Amino acid sequence: MTAPHSPVSALAQIKEALCDAAVRHGRVHYVPPGIVAVSKTHPAERIEPLLKAGHRLFGENRVQEAEAKWPDLKARYPGVELHLIGPLQTNKTADALALFDVIETLDRPKLADQLAKELAKTPKKDLKLFVQVNTGEEEQKAGVGPKEADGFIRYCREKNLPVVGLMCIPPVAEDPAPHFALLRTIAERNGLTALSMGMSGDFGIAAALGATHVRIGSALFGERAKP
Ligand SMILES: *Cc1c(COP(=O)(O)O)cnc(C)c1O
Repeated sequence: MTAPHSPVSALAQIKEALCDAAVRHGRVHYVPPGIVAVSKTHPAERIEPLLKAGHRLFGENRVQEAEAKWPDLKARYPGVELHLIGPLQTNKTADALALFDVIETLDRPKLADQLAKELAKTPKKDLKLFVQVNTGEEEQKAGVGPKEADGFIRYCREKNLPVVGLMCIPPVAEDPAPHFALLRTIAERNGLTALSMGMSGDFGIAAALGATHVRIGSALFGERAKP
């Protein structure tokens, strides 16, 4: 375990680092990405200091875990935007729609069908969806392949799903930069403006390559306990 530290001071440092990254890479018209504070495994007491400091953008990777923490936190801190960043099973779709404002892990036609079906029953005005792209074409990883992405985005649009952007998790052992660049290329040719890319280890390079959202867990909250 690293020494206990304050998520609030860590957040300030990350914001600074995000601006430095842009300057180093010569970005001119630079809007720093939103910091999705990934609070998975951390209890509400650990999350609250960030909420008290005014942060409102958070991510969780499991529907059930989020259901245990976030209804209460959302009621007490208005304006939270909660992102689902982990795989979504089709039988949890309604639960996910009830709690999450953004689902970043739309990754297969079956899930698109189920989301469309649920939204026809219970519309959700401000919902935003990201398509997850498996940029490294890794067997074990979720996401549509880069070659399937255009067709899948079209499929989602035909179902009137509110797809606004793309998300990726590059292979752990590789330079993430080409993966971020590929995600951006796919987004641009499909007219999508949001890019969720970059985590604790590589958010600077992601920001320099055009991320609109970085998903940051351990750099904010410290190491997670192993299950
Ligand atoms: C856990 C997780 C993160 C945060 O990872 P850190 O390396 O702790 O910043 C980001 N994205 C996804 C999809 C995750 O599951």
